[in-house]
Amino acid sequence: MSPTYCEVALPVPMRLLFTYEIPERLAGSVFAGSRVLVPFRNRAMTGVVVDASVRRPDPSRVKNVREIADVLDAIPALPANLIELGRWVAGYYVAPLGEVLRAMLPPQIDLRHEREFLLTDAGRTRRSELDGAGNRSESEVAEMALLSLMEIEGKPVRADRLHKLPGGEAAAERLLRRKQLEMRGVAVRRQARVQKIVAWIDAPSGETQSAQADPSATLPEKEARVFHVLAEERGPLPLPQLAKLARVSRPLIERMIHHEKLKCWEEPMAVEEDLFDADYTPPSNILNVDQERELAVIRGWLDAGVFTAGLLHGVTGSGKTEVYLNAVDLVLARNKTALILVPEIALTLWIGRLCRARFGAGVAVLHSALPEVERAREWWRVRRGEARVVVGTRSAVFAPVENLGLIVVDEEQEASYKQEETPRYHGRDVAVVRSKLEGAVVLLGSATPSLESFQNARSGKYHLLQLDSRVENRPLAPVEIVDLREDFKSTHSTGPISAKLGKAIAARLGEGTQSLILINRRGYSWSVLCRSCGVSVQCENCSISLTYHKQRQRLECHYCGFSRRVPESCPKCNSEHIYFFGAGAEQLEEKLREKFPDAKVARLDRDSVRTKRAYQQVLGDFAGGKIDILVGTQMVAKGHDFQRVTLVGVISADSQLSLPDFRAAERTFQLLTQVAGRAGRGGLPGEVLVETFYPEHYAIQLAARQDYLTFFEKEVQFRRLLHYPPFTALASVLVRDAKIENAIRWSRQLSVFLAPQESRGVKVLGPAAAPLARLKREYRFQFILKAPKRAQLTRALSELLAFSEEKEIPQKAVLVDVDPLSLF
Ligand code: ADP
Ligand code: ZN
Ligand code: ZN
Repeated sequence: MSPTYCEVALPVPMRLLFTYEIPERLAGSVFAGSRVLVPFRNRAMTGVVVDASVRRPDPSRVKNVREIADVLDAIPALPANLIELGRWVAGYYVAPLGEVLRAMLPPQIDLRHEREFLLTDAGRTRRSELDGAGNRSESEVAEMALLSLMEIEGKPVRADRLHKLPGGEAAAERLLRRKQLEMRGVAVRRQARVQKIVAWIDAPSGETQSAQADPSATLPEKEARVFHVLAEERGPLPLPQLAKLARVSRPLIERMIHHEKLKCWEEPMAVEEDLFDADYTPPSNILNVDQERELAVIRGWLDAGVFTAGLLHGVTGSGKTEVYLNAVDLVLARNKTALILVPEIALTLWIGRLCRARFGAGVAVLHSALPEVERAREWWRVRRGEARVVVGTRSAVFAPVENLGLIVVDEEQEASYKQEETPRYHGRDVAVVRSKLEGAVVLLGSATPSLESFQNARSGKYHLLQLDSRVENRPLAPVEIVDLREDFKSTHSTGPISAKLGKAIAARLGEGTQSLILINRRGYSWSVLCRSCGVSVQCENCSISLTYHKQRQRLECHYCGFSRRVPESCPKCNSEHIYFFGAGAEQLEEKLREKFPDAKVARLDRDSVRTKRAYQQVLGDFAGGKIDILVGTQMVAKGHDFQRVTLVGVISADSQLSLPDFRAAERTFQLLTQVAGRAGRGGLPGEVLVETFYPEHYAIQLAARQDYLTFFEKEVQFRRLLHYPPFTALASVLVRDAKIENAIRWSRQLSVFLAPQESRGVKVLGPAAAPLARLKREYRFQFILKAPKRAQLTRALSELLAFSEEKEIPQKAVLVDVDPLSLF
């Protein structure tokens, strides 16, 4: 049989595919979409087959074609629809296909990466030399032992065996240095992780316990406890958990197993139980007239069975979630599958719980905070078709469902849908393309749609669905703007809490309802200034001010993690007049506690809650009324449905407006509208107070009126005029290096290359120092590319990358971001 070849996409920063030979023993088990293990340079790598039968590449171009080492899946991991989608993503975001496909794959829990050593000719010579030598030193003895072992076995030796040879590790290192050994990476298949499950040996099946004679009377005390836990309390349990619950040692249990008092078998590692699920009954809402009307439209699209994109614009609290879930119902009734994307992990828990309660076990939840084993298991459940509804964050847009009927993208305007590393895709945009490729319906939902999406609805690309009022006709909470300049004039206080906000909080404490206060900065003070020389204390690695964290007594960089102790004098001029400036969440919490000593105050930000559990705990306590005032960063602004919040306060609402970013106004508008929407969601009316130094700014004014349409009109005009998205295809190209000379030289080269692009319709701005001119010790220069037509931009970027490859500019030095969310 003549050899066959396949084309493999590897997760390397090269926009190429690689050809491998399929060895005879693997014939018939390699398909498009299979994950394969292949040798690449001197490593083993997992790639995805994108074409399972290709011709041998031209021998003049590729000299030796290597063989696939192994196929990892019985069924190909990636179905054909995902490979097609991957190709689109790779093309649109000018990213290597291998890196795109890797982003689609499940976590690799079934492989372990190891190193192994091979004997070289020099090594064989060394061995015969040593063999002949009379008096060998200790290290020579060790080398000899290793070399002999390898010669005898006649195959590579794994690094993990070295420690068994005395002095083996050091010997290997010396031999390696002298090129008498060679090292390479290999991947080894690993058994799925299993755990021992233990059960009482005569656990009755079907009978009730009371019918049995109680054996615990005749047992030694510890064994009786084991009996009690297994047979009376819990049933079969993982061994460690049993040991803990019964308060006995593991060896004791092992002994009981050995004496056949207990049964034992192995099961794959348990999935962490979702604590929320146990006794949850979702509200059974009857759709109101508005919801029914929009659902009917969606039903029509599903019946038509062709690609349709809808934008559901519904004010906060209008019941969009209910519409999504009913749409999923319709999809399931048509025997199709559905994806629901949410912008953050906390919301997957919330929506996942609603979905499980409604659609049962056929729901899978996928997000990056799941332990790898669990995520892999969920992923394969989806791949095998066991789960037909998938709830997840950004990357769940690549969930391996087939027969797709619907993708919902909730809060479609959220920045978290954009991945900020290669491949730099936007989950919402990929959702639309995927739906198009698979003839499905895509439903984008938001109270404050992105300008792009609303413009698409305007131009007829998307259909617009609207929910104009809150459920049960609850009013939107009135928003009042607090002018901090006026506040200062009357109070002469510079604290974060204005007189008006203070009074409003006091009133809520009096009536026993809750307040939610949003502040957009972490830490205690976001700047540390010297009064004498005016310098602010900067990060060593980045061109950014350090933030003061009082509890930890450190100055910290929020970009790279650098931290230092708080200086007693100015690092520059030695003056002692150090001044802390700008309140963050930590300070706000402290000031609230001072002002309202009897109130229960809690804070929700990345410093105060570090785990999923802590996060849920705080939100749970707030929802349960155990907290009067909750302070938080934008973590608190989104999605949550608190019933007893009657006051929402926003501190420094304008903090984003000063950023040099064309989306600054849009972001501010969205954030304010979202957080204002947290007030008055239950039966109680709400009030929103927004503190700002720029009360005139249209983003703040219009957010206060919750007037999306006017905001859209104004903003869209500005975008059109200044040639920004959605009217221009935009990309940013960042050139970065730890050595500033390199960054400048490469920027110049690219600049020369880009110049002629202007005549092809691509406008090139830069290179200029990036707004964050230094980050994590790297100097950064930026180009902005704009083109009226997408194809022009894509071509220019693709040529740019080819050029930089040709000039041997390191791959990681040139960072291309298509449709960047922020130019900052
Ligand atoms: P949105 O996402 O549009 O802000 P939600 O979907 O969170 O709004 O709905 C807000 C609240 O209204 C939720 O508590 C939900 O259970 C409730 N709700 C939704 N639809 C109805 C309805 N038809 N009747 C009564 N309550 C509803
Ligand atoms: Zn100074
Ligand atoms: Zn830094």
